[in-house]
Amino acid sequence: MKKILIGTHNNGKFKEIAYLLPKIYKKISPLKLKIKSPKETGKSFKTNARLKVKFFSKFVNYGVISDDSGLCIKALNNRPGIFSARLAKKHGSFLKAMKFILKKLKNKKNRNATFVCSLSYKDEKGKIITVQGNLKGTISNKIIGKKGFGYDPIFIPKGKKITFGQMTKIKKMRMDHRFLAYKKLLKKVKI
Ligand code: IMP
Repeated sequence: MKKILIGTHNNGKFKEIAYLLPKIYKKISPLKLKIKSPKETGKSFKTNARLKVKFFSKFVNYGVISDDSGLCIKALNNRPGIFSARLAKKHGSFLKAMKFILKKLKNKKNRNATFVCSLSYKDEKGKIITVQGNLKGTISNKIIGKKGFGYDPIFIPKGKKITFGQMTKIKKMRMDHRFLAYKKLLKKVKI
């Protein structure tokens, strides 16, 4: 069976990327290979996605796919953005980070936000392709829904009335920023 390393330690992301990839692949996690994550030193989603794919591919001789993603909130100067994971770490949990965001947005009229995913794929020959998927939406007034992961319970995708946290996994996975990036990737490379 062909193998592919999904370069992430985030279980939510791992499951979504695994769902998108063809069934022929055995999806390998860095956890299983006891590989730690690299430091995210880049200043953009794209740089960090490439940095991750390059790092993880040092350990295997098959294809690697990694993403760098996050929530960009207009009224917060597009923060937390690339610092989305770090904000949750700083506050101790996603719940606390979401409460912090809702407090910051309390008197703001503009609740527009974008979920961004830079997806980077390195094939076994070493060629790297990076694409980006952006999904527009708004930040809810409350934390709603127990499904999904990360900031899902405060993000309402454009055209919908419920948060990602209320949506079934399949529905979310078929419309989110990762899915949009993956569709772009397939236009550029055969996986
Ligand atoms: P990083 O790409 O490892 O820097 O982490 C991105 C951060 O954004 C993580 O904390 C994720 O939980 C969050 N994030 C990325 N994509 C999603 C999503 O689809 N739903 C909810 N949170 C997300």
